[in-house]
Amino acid sequence: MLNIEEIRSQFPILQTRVYGRPLVYLDNGATTHKPLVVLNKLQEAYTSFNSNVHRGVHALSDKASVEYEGARETVKRFINAPLVSEIIFTSGATASINLVAFSFGERYISAGDEVIISEMEHHANIVPWQMVCKRKGAVLKIIPVLDDGTLDMERYRELFSSRTRIVAVTHVSNALGTINPVREITRIAHDNGVPILIDGAQAIQHGNVDVQDIDCDFYLFSGHKVYGPTGIGVLYGKSEYLNEMPPWQGGGDMVDRVTLEETTFNELPFKFEAGTTNFIGAVGMAAALDYLKSTGIEEIGLREKELLDYATRKLEGIEGLRIIGTAPEKIPIISFLLEKVHMYDAGMILDKMGIAVRTGTQCAQPLINRFGTDGVIRASMTFYNTMEEIDALAAGIVKVKEMME
Ligand code: PMP
Repeated sequence: MLNIEEIRSQFPILQTRVYGRPLVYLDNGATTHKPLVVLNKLQEAYTSFNSNVHRGVHALSDKASVEYEGARETVKRFINAPLVSEIIFTSGATASINLVAFSFGERYISAGDEVIISEMEHHANIVPWQMVCKRKGAVLKIIPVLDDGTLDMERYRELFSSRTRIVAVTHVSNALGTINPVREITRIAHDNGVPILIDGAQAIQHGNVDVQDIDCDFYLFSGHKVYGPTGIGVLYGKSEYLNEMPPWQGGGDMVDRVTLEETTFNELPFKFEAGTTNFIGAVGMAAALDYLKSTGIEEIGLREKELLDYATRKLEGIEGLRIIGTAPEKIPIISFLLEKVHMYDAGMILDKMGIAVRTGTQCAQPLINRFGTDGVIRASMTFYNTMEEIDALAAGIVKVKEMME
């Protein structure tokens, strides 16, 4: 059992008041808050070992490099990657996907080839693939979403052809909360001889992720959604692909030998880390992963299931409220619409009550449009949320209805 009061005391921002009311933060899908251990680690980094990594022989640079490479080890252990050299630091999930789309695309995708994504993807896992398909003359094929917000696995099986080069799907939907069966999705891709990228931006903070168990070829996430700093993210990739893929950005640290005519490239993972990386962000993110581990990933999962069940029951009881996304396996995200109130009106009135929810397309326009709307209201919870906050949301929605209907 988690001690929620004690946990909340570790997140200073949760004590904030907005418009004189206690903050009810239900926008954790967009970004999560940071516990003191992460904030303290960032402070320690800037005050005691700030110095560029891999560059100097002096003590501070050495300490920064040791911390940075230690962070890589922490990530490797957290997702159970086989090799530390398969962990690449990027600026976030979006950058990780763009890296793979560009670099894998350069090496493996040609005119007439096919890429499979799903209708459920965040724009970050749609647009880079559209860009590579356009550049290469390849074709994007789409796994449809069923009415409950799960993927149509039958159609998925039928999408493969001898021209399929890669599958890219999300582990968890940011708009609906659906947890996809990524092991099965991966097995089907591999049965067809096709590698797979999994977007873990909404999964890593909610449950155990074991990339060897999933057997995916690429997995990625952002630091800021897993209680770490912004501007840092991870790409895990199997070396058999990463070694073959060309670098996607050139600059310092990714080189082996440079002449004015030619450059040879550094080994993994540095080949994909051009320029000064966000080494302080990496160290902060590692502190966040350690914090999650010590809090207990299993316990967090149980707590979040309780929150999801409670919130679903509460919101289902409100007349004229339609929940979009009713998959059997979900993280604590509830997207909904009110029959007679526009989402933006609802979002703005809830804000005045101190309740932060997200309104709009959730950066997943094709998915939202598939459900016959141009936006939803999304409450995304995490383990530090309380049942009282869910009560406040439900009461707030009832108030909104009274005011607007
Ligand atoms: N994929 C999913 C499923 C997401 O939810 C997000 C962020 N909302 C992203 C990718 C992109 O993450 P970032 O903006 O941190 O790069």
